[in-house]
Order: sequence, then C-alpha cells, then structure tokens
Amino acid sequence: MSLFVLSRRSLAALVAWTVLGGASVWAETPSLTVTLRPGAVDVARGLGRMDVQWVASDLKAKAGEPLLTLPVVIANTDTIADTLTGLVVTDSRGVVPLTVRDDPAALVYSRHWLAARDVDGEVTVRYRAPIDNTPPRRGSGPPYSLRTEGGGVSGVGNTFILLPEVGTDYRVALRWDLAGLGEGARATSSYGEGDVDLGQGAADRLSSTVFMAGPMHREPETVGDAGFSAAWLGETPFEARPLMVWTHRLHGWMSRFFAEPGDPPYRVFMRFNPINAGGGVALTRSFLVTYNAQTNPEDLKTTLSHEMIHTWTQWDGRGQWYGEGVAVYYQALLPFRAGLMSADAYLADINDTARRYYSNPLNGTPDDQIAARFWDDSRIRVLPYDRGALYFATVNGMIRRASDGARSVDDLIAEMNRRRRAGETVDEAAWVALLVGELGEAGRDLHTAMKAGALMTPEPGDFGPCFTREVGKARRFELGFDPRSLVGDVKTIRGLIPGSAADQAGLRNGDVVTYAVAMDAVQGDQTRRLTLQTTRDGRTFPVTYLPRGEEVDVYQWRRVQGVADAACKP
Ligand SMILES: [Zn+2]
Repeated sequence: MSLFVLSRRSLAALVAWTVLGGASVWAETPSLTVTLRPGAVDVARGLGRMDVQWVASDLKAKAGEPLLTLPVVIANTDTIADTLTGLVVTDSRGVVPLTVRDDPAALVYSRHWLAARDVDGEVTVRYRAPIDNTPPRRGSGPPYSLRTEGGGVSGVGNTFILLPEVGTDYRVALRWDLAGLGEGARATSSYGEGDVDLGQGAADRLSSTVFMAGPMHREPETVGDAGFSAAWLGETPFEARPLMVWTHRLHGWMSRFFAEPGDPPYRVFMRFNPINAGGGVALTRSFLVTYNAQTNPEDLKTTLSHEMIHTWTQWDGRGQWYGEGVAVYYQALLPFRAGLMSADAYLADINDTARRYYSNPLNGTPDDQIAARFWDDSRIRVLPYDRGALYFATVNGMIRRASDGARSVDDLIAEMNRRRRAGETVDEAAWVALLVGELGEAGRDLHTAMKAGALMTPEPGDFGPCFTREVGKARRFELGFDPRSLVGDVKTIRGLIPGSAADQAGLRNGDVVTYAVAMDAVQGDQTRRLTLQTTRDGRTFPVTYLPRGEEVDVYQWRRVQGVADAACKP
C-alpha cells in the first residue's frame, strides 16, 4: 500500500515555503474575490482549461516590487507557472506592465510577477490555466495538479492560483461560473458547495484548498451545508459508493474519537492518478485520494483513514515524525476499533510498516537529516512514517505498562488535539512534557533516541493481546544505482552497482529513465517489479527488474491463536 502521503502543512514546514504573514494595516480588511470558470473539456485528449479571475479591493506595490506569486515547483510537482496564458493585471490606471523573477531553482521555488509601475487600490488579475492529463515527467508527487476526468476538472490551489505577493489578510470569497461545463455541472471545494465565503484570513488558504467541478458523483447523494460529503468525477474501476459509505462511517467515528466540536463541512475527493495511484494528500477540512485501473478498494481504506487522521493531528512543531507517525500508527487501528476493518487487515498493515522499516538500511538516519534528503531517496522519505508509527506503538506500550492499562497514547494525542483547538502551541516541547508526565525520564530518553535514529522496537504484546512478535525475513529495497539519479526533470542513471538486479537487467550508467510509479510504494512491496522506460543512444526500451538486495531479519507480528477478535483492540 502506498504511503506517499504528505500534508501540505508539513511540507510547508519541511521546505520552508512561506508566504509572508502579517497583520492587516488597513482599518477595514480588504476583499479578495476569486472567480473560477472551468472551460469545456476535451475528454478524448485529456485537455481542459480553468479561467481564473480575482479582484482584490486593495493591493499595493511600488514600481519594481513583486505583486503576484506562485510556486514553480512544489513537492516535486510542476504548477502552471510555465504554462499559464493571457495573464493581465489591471488597476484604475489600466493594464499593469509586469516583469518576471524566479527564485533560484530548488526543490521548491516560486515565481514572482513584478509591477513595472506603482500599483495602488483595486486590482483585477486574469489568466487561463491549461489542463493537460499527460503524466508529469518529473515523476511522483502529491496529487495537486489540475486534471480533467468525467467531463469535469479538479485540482489544488497551490498549483494554479496566483496570490498577492504580500500576505495581507483578506475577506476571501470563492465564486464559480460553470457555464463552460454544461448542464448538470456542480462545484465544490474544501470550504463547501459552490459559491462560498472563506471569511477573513490569509489569501494562501486558497493554496491548500481542493477544487472540483463538473457532473460529480456524491455520497451521500444529497449534499447538506454541514458534515461529510464525498465527490468524484467519472467512472471508477471499482464501486466507489460503498467505499465512500465506509469512509462516511469512519468520519463519524473519528469525529467522536477526536472530540470534534460541531459538524463542519468535510470533503473527501477521489480522482484518477496516472503515476502514484493509492496516494493521497490531506488539505483544509478535506483530503484527496487517488486510484487507477488496478486499485483494490480494500487497499484504499488505509489511505482514506490516514488522510482523515491528519485532520486532527496538525501541530506547530518541526519535522514529520509526529503528524505522519500518528497517522500511520492509527490508520488501521482506528478503523479496526470502529468495527470497520478486520483484525487480519489491521495485522497486515502493522506488518507492512514493520517490514519496510526494519529492512530499510537507512533506518538509523537521525530525524534532523531527513528534511534535507527527503526527495533524494525514498528510503529517507518513508522514515517519518515508518519510524514514527513504531515510535508511537512503543510509547503506547510503555504507557500501558506504567499505568497498568489505565492510560494509553490516545490520552496524549487527545491532549495535544485539545490544546491545538484551544489555540495553544503544540510542538515538540509540549509533546515531550506530556511524555515525561506519563513515563518520567524514560519517556524523554525514548524520544531522544528516536530523534537520533535508534531502532524503535515495540514489545511483543504492544499491538494488543491478539498479536505477538516474531522474526521474519525481508529483502532490502535496492534500486541498484544512486537514488539521486531519479531526482529532477531528467533522470540520468549513475552509480550503477555491479551485479545488482538493475545491472543484470541491462541498465547502464548514463541511461535516461522515466517511470510511472511512486518509489515509496515499490519499496513497501517485496514482490513488486520496477519498470524503467530507458533511453540510450536514441532508442527507448523498458528495463524491468525486482529492486531487491540482501535478505535481512525483520520484526513481524502474528496472530495469537485462541484470542477472539473482540479482545484484540489495543
Ligand atoms: Zn500522511
């Protein structure tokens, strides 16, 4: 199962991509009204367009200063910065001439549109965002880009909505013009149905918003103002509705578990993914999951659960071990407790995580080295997920033993969640203080060891009385060449390891390759073969091999015979 799942919030923290924040200096908060006009879709060619117009009631820039901004690349995903057309900015004096300046190219960098003269007052911005379903050359990333399917469009704002450069607060309103999509088209977003007011706040809320419009399928079929609603376009290769009914039930259960006050709008979006099916991404009050023709809806359940958990486990700290660790720790456990997943499926999920973690030759990498190497190597990228989950399992076991079963890690997560809701800072210091409160210095020691890269080893009974630990075998993930060969737009093989499966399959240094899978998922599946479309001397051909190296011992858990499912729940 794919674990290529990142919340935009944690990505932002990871790569320090920020839009300048700051309190408004105007007496009245200016308005920013965004109108989205999806155009007609060319279904056969997978092409479409989204015309974007916004009006800011007050926007200022001196001549030569940046007025607008958009990332060029975010999380290994190209935005429309290079493909947008017809950008026109006007104010009361007419068209504003623009020049363009890019930040230095990096894993994440932005483009800035500079005003060639002073701008002051009401400003209108118009442009066309093209939509093209061609799989990106860059490879796998979160499903942010605009896509078209089933006669509609979807995408995340961070790839197609230019924002004011200065991060003033705005009263943001979203308006839709659906005439171009024909009859039967509706629109929804992370903030609710059709035209919605986001209220006062940063304009970059639009960046973490999912937008979808067209002849959508919905579950429940009637969409209310509040609560859960799933949306998808076109026909899925599996029965989507029962899966979304399941997701709706899980949302109700989790809302109680995480003590959600009220019943705010909550959106689940599903869409096709040509390169990283099964992946998802959590966004504001919503998440997006993806599928392809091979997707087994049972496998999608842990992704749905994982992304939903992110809704309640945001934090203010650095690093991904908390958010991703909690999400992986709970992704099968909570559906299991809710009666929505079998004990066997829960066990399989524990073992997938454990196998990938214990067979990872880089599992001793300290946490503070992960951010810089995150996109270099999937073996680094999965660590916050896998190590984080086994850390929380270890913490849970220690708390249960120390409290004679009266308390668990749930109590600490609930307290972190309560504080965040109350507007308090929930960061690493807050977490460690809670840990020390439960476990004394042993809690701090475990935490320090985890951050330093020590192996996390839950006790045999730490996943509940139904399961016990054993030693199994797994083969290490081994691409057979320097993993950094796969970073960036053009992927040129270097550092080929003589005798590796890649070498034996015919791959050579200097080959230029493309592929249509997420390495994180390949790494997690012992039997999955990798196909690299390889170009050498003007010829392109596939090279397929099993990217595995030496066999090593890994901890696994197995069912204890004679204990009923009902007694399993840790
Ligand atoms: Zn996640």
